[in-house]
Amino acid sequence: MGEIKSFCARSYLVAKLCTYCGRRLSLFGGRIDSKVKDYIVPLSRGGEESSENIVASCKECQALKGEYLNFALLPLLLNRPRLIDDIRHYLREVRQVMGVRSSVMDLPG
Ligand SMILES: [Zn+2]
Repeated sequence: MGEIKSFCARSYLVAKLCTYCGRRLSLFGGRIDSKVKDYIVPLSRGGEESSENIVASCKECQALKGEYLNFALLPLLLNRPRLIDDIRHYLREVRQVMGVRSSVMDLPG
C-alpha cells in the first residue's frame, strides 16, 4: 500500500497531461490549462485527502467536474482507473452539452 501511495503522489507531481482530457498542463496559475489537484471522489462527498484520491487535472476539467460522483460506482471506489474513466466520459458529455470545444480530445478507452 505504501508503494502505491508514493507512486500516486509522484504521478501527480510529474504529470504533464490532464488526467481527464489529455491536454498539456501549464504550470502558470489562473489559466484553464493550469495544473491543479483534483479529487476523484470530492472531499465534500467523503473523498479522502490521500494521494490515491488525487489526480493531475487542468483547471477547466476540475471546474466542469465540480462535485460529480457516480454513485453507481461506489462499490468500486478502490478501482481508480474505472472511476477516472467514468469521469472522462462525464466530462466529454458536459463539454458537448455546454459547447466547450477548446479541449475535447478523444482518449482511447
Ligand atoms: Zn482537462
